[in-house]
Amino acid sequence: MKNEMTKITRAECEARDRADPLAKFRDQFVLPDGVIYLDGNSLGALPKAAVLRMREAVEQQWGRDLIKSWNLHDWIGLPRRVGAKIARLIGAKPDEVVAADSTSVNLFKLLAAAVRLRAGRDVILSEPGNFPTDLYVAQGLIDLLGGRHRLELVPGEEIEAAIDERVAVVSLTHVNYKSGRVHDLNRVSAAARAKGALMLWDLAHSAGALPVDLNGAGADLAVGCGYKYLNGGPGAPAFLFIAERHQDTISPPLSGWMGHAHPFTFDIGYEPAAGIARNLCGTPPVLSMAALDAALDVMLEADMNEIRKKSLALGDLFLTLVEQRCAGHGCRPGSAARHERGSQVGLVHEHAYPIMQALIARGVIGDFRAPDVLRFGFAPLYNRYADMWDAVDALRQVMESHAWDAPRFKTRAAVT
Ligand SMILES: *Cc1c(COP(=O)(O)O)cnc(C)c1O
Repeated sequence: MKNEMTKITRAECEARDRADPLAKFRDQFVLPDGVIYLDGNSLGALPKAAVLRMREAVEQQWGRDLIKSWNLHDWIGLPRRVGAKIARLIGAKPDEVVAADSTSVNLFKLLAAAVRLRAGRDVILSEPGNFPTDLYVAQGLIDLLGGRHRLELVPGEEIEAAIDERVAVVSLTHVNYKSGRVHDLNRVSAAARAKGALMLWDLAHSAGALPVDLNGAGADLAVGCGYKYLNGGPGAPAFLFIAERHQDTISPPLSGWMGHAHPFTFDIGYEPAAGIARNLCGTPPVLSMAALDAALDVMLEADMNEIRKKSLALGDLFLTLVEQRCAGHGCRPGSAARHERGSQVGLVHEHAYPIMQALIARGVIGDFRAPDVLRFGFAPLYNRYADMWDAVDALRQVMESHAWDAPRFKTRAAVT
């Protein structure tokens, strides 16, 4: 236990905000008064630029220019244009990424494509702590393929040793959604390559949160989410990455017209488009794409190394404050060690659910992950050091007063 002298004050946190090179970005977001938002890892905050862009897309484009907008405003090019912006955040070339569909659907598309590229191998390798949709999609695909493949789950630390000649594809989430632990992108990708397996990364908690270099790691495939750190809005389009070397050998399992070589010749036979475009399926959700496109412009103004530096500093500060101010209330740190942590921390407590509800009632928004984790995500573009102080102070009050121990905080909502 640190002594009184070393206790961090709110004034010190404010001083760090004044010296913060990313502080200027906060004003580019709509943030309600009285709310400390530590859930940008589940739904990123609303960029002011997205409000303007959506208004334009609705009023000028849809409202005035109607169907002409597909050409006039290049609606048809949005999946590629937005993909090219995301590419800059994940170490990919512009033509290696498209924005499309949901993360779950993209997982299906890429797992199916991977299994076809590695015919003769029958294992999809993942870990039990992977995000459930990643595992469910693999199970559904295996059923669809007639049960000739298997989903093998081994703990994260044992993945590399478990890759062998039976493995068609290794499917992992880069930053674990619950513990925040980061896999070594380079090492695991290299281990897959050494055994001839394909490597599929889920970047849902990585893109926009920390530097990612897919091509530097020699990764084959990736998917990720538009509504978390990319701030694309609820249900924003997701993205997929396919390394250039694989693009023309991929047979898309969802062979829709938007991935056809010539969608507007209306041929009856399917002919895949060249390159990444064949992985599009149906008409893009233009309004959602517009919001994501505007949000990416904000993020691309920031230096990703600064984002990473501040994200770790916010997490360190938060955990130190919990240790200094909430000791004795039974909250244990529940996240990965600093050197392998993403942009979130977890606290473990047996009453995590009502504690989080009591915090939310006080304007500190994090989330709960079953069975016992209070999860706090840090979005360096709009979270402040002083927010860490205020959030932990609210946690201290909730714990000291037992405010969480009220029936209204114990009823589980549909979305936690
Ligand atoms: C959030 C998240 C998803 C979300 O998938 P959706 O299809 O958008 O619901 C997928 N994978 C991981 C690892 C996630 O964290």
